[in-house]
This record gives sequence, C-alpha cells and structure tokens, in this order.
Amino acid sequence: MKLKKKLFISVCFIIMCLSVGCSSTKDTKSIKDPTIEKSEEVAEIKENIKEVNMVKYEGVIEHLFVHPLIVYPELAYDGDYESNTLSKWFVTTKEFKNALGELYRNNYILVAYKDIYEEKTIDDKTLTVRKDLMLPEGKKPIIISVDDLNANKYMLGNGITEKLVFDKDGEIAGYVKNPEGKYIVSKDTEIVPVLETFIKEHPDFSHNGAKGTLAITGFEGILGYRIQQNSINRESELKECKKIVEKLKNDGWEFASHSYGHPNLEKISLERLVNDTTKWHNEVESVVGDTKIYITPYGSWPTKESGGLKYLKDRGFSIFAGVGPISYEKIYKDQNLVMTDRRNLDGGTLLNKRDKFLDLYDANLVIDYKGRKISK
Ligand SMILES: [Zn+2]
Repeated sequence: MKLKKKLFISVCFIIMCLSVGCSSTKDTKSIKDPTIEKSEEVAEIKENIKEVNMVKYEGVIEHLFVHPLIVYPELAYDGDYESNTLSKWFVTTKEFKNALGELYRNNYILVAYKDIYEEKTIDDKTLTVRKDLMLPEGKKPIIISVDDLNANKYMLGNGITEKLVFDKDGEIAGYVKNPEGKYIVSKDTEIVPVLETFIKEHPDFSHNGAKGTLAITGFEGILGYRIQQNSINRESELKECKKIVEKLKNDGWEFASHSYGHPNLEKISLERLVNDTTKWHNEVESVVGDTKIYITPYGSWPTKESGGLKYLKDRGFSIFAGVGPISYEKIYKDQNLVMTDRRNLDGGTLLNKRDKFLDLYDANLVIDYKGRKISK
C-alpha cells in the first residue's frame, strides 16, 4: 500500500507539471504536439498504476536458502580441510548480491511466513492454512532462509562473519576477520546487512516489511554469541545477543529451529530427538521466541517408525521445511501440518545445476568467478 501512496504522490506531481507546466518543459522548444505528449504521459502513468494493482496470490511460493556468506573467498578457498565443503555448500557475499539482483529483475518479492500462514480453528481442530496473500500484480513471492547462522567453529578463519554486531549507526553489521588478520565491522558481509541494504535500495523487493528466516542451531551458540550451557561467557554473551535478536525481530526477521545439535533426523532415535529439541527450547527458543517453523538439518526427515515428526508437532512445530529440487508445499487439511521443500543457492547448484534455477536466476550471472578462482 505504501507503494501505491508513493506512486499517487508522483502521479499528482506529474499531473501538476502537466497542467501548470514544469520549468524544464516550459523552457524547452518541442516540435511535438503538446496534447499528444500529454496523452502519452497519461498513458504511461496509467500503465504504472496498473503495475501496482494488488492481486491475491495463490500459486507456489518459492523458497531459496543459503548458508552464511563467504566474505573473503581467498580465506575460504585456500585448499585447507574445509575448502571443499565451503565451495560446494556456501556462496560468497558477491554471489548472494548477484542472486538478489537477478531475483529482483525476475519480479520476485520477499514474503514472510507470518503473511503466508495462519492457524485457524476448524471443527474444533487447530489447523495451519494459507492466508490471503495480496501482492503487486506480476510479482512472484519468495522466502529466503539462512541455515546455520551460528558462526560454527568450522567456519572460523575461513572469511565468514563471526558475529552479528551493531555498527556505529546502530544497524546490524558483520564482525569478520579480514585476510590481514584484522577484525572489521562492515555491512558488506553477511546476509542480514546485505539484504537490509538491498531492500533499502529496492523497497519493492520486500512485501509488508518481509526479511529472511534465520534457521539456527544451538550447540555452539547463535549468531556468533556463545550462549550454550557450557560456555564460560554465557551471561555476558546472552546479554549482547538478546539486543541483536530484538533488533532483528523489529526489523522483520523471523526465526526457525534448525535443531540443537544438527543431527540427521532420519538416523536418530526418538530419545535423542527429545533431548535435542528440549535443549533447543531451553537455550535457543528462550532467546529468539516461539516459532512454529522447523528447518530440518541436511533436509532429512524422521522415519515414520521413530515417531519423530509427531513428537516435533506435539512440541509446537507445524511448518516443516527440507531441501528439494522444487519449492514444494503440502498442507495437511486433517492435521496441523505443512510440509515444504526449499531450493539451495550454493556452490554446487551454481556450478552444476544452472538449468534447474533459470526461473530464479542465471547462475552464469551469479557466480563469483574471481573469488572462486575459476574461469567463465
Ligand atoms: Zn544446517
């Protein structure tokens, strides 16, 4: 609606210019018939108005996920033990920015879980259903989620942001060690500040203030803060972390559970899942707040025999997301359950699955060839 208002103001301004004559048009000698010029401009304005018609969207909601960004590829792709993992499953800051530009050009618009689903009581049953999603005509909705924004130990020293912090303006920035070994605070680093900057420059990329969803574990703390039970700095870390979480939530970021210890749900017993989920509730949910969203580690699902899915539902999760080649969604109408899959923006898909992602972006325009030290 904000867009409409903005457009209305600019329409009024143009109409004012047309009726009273702006100094620039007044001074310019035009060989065109002014009435033709006027009708052409009015037609253009009408065309613009048509573009921001809000229409109900009922189709597929795309969902793309990424891991924390590689700010300094020279530190990530240095041939050490983690190089291959980081090359296959991660993207650089430059690649993420390129992908955002492509998504925007291809008419995608960010949407938030809170604007997609709601719980309703139907025949005495609580069910999760799709909300009426009103979007500017022609726009296609997309969720962006971030897995493991935890600054896990294997990421440290690999040119990845080690902590989300406040910069001097009170905005969220990344705290990262550069190739010279110095720590810097910069917005040109991690997904949170990069997406915030992109939306500031392209406000129509975000519907109703939507940002991304942060899927986090807890075994090494969250967002770079070592708030886990066995951390020696737990109290002071918790204090700082809560301020960042509050800012993120105020800015429109949503949180999801990515389990506590990142187990493969298909392979663990119900007992281990209970233990893992209890830890997540105690150490993470107590900080980030209640969430219905569970993003499964490795995209794997509990087996039917283990009863793991039922257990997670009983613990309050109703929207589940795995990994798959398409943005799949199934809403179970007889129970409070939504099963979805997300597509992965990472080195593996950029380098090997270009054709599967052309509806979102052209990988050839996204790949950071220089950072990855590969040729076009
Ligand atoms: Zn993960």
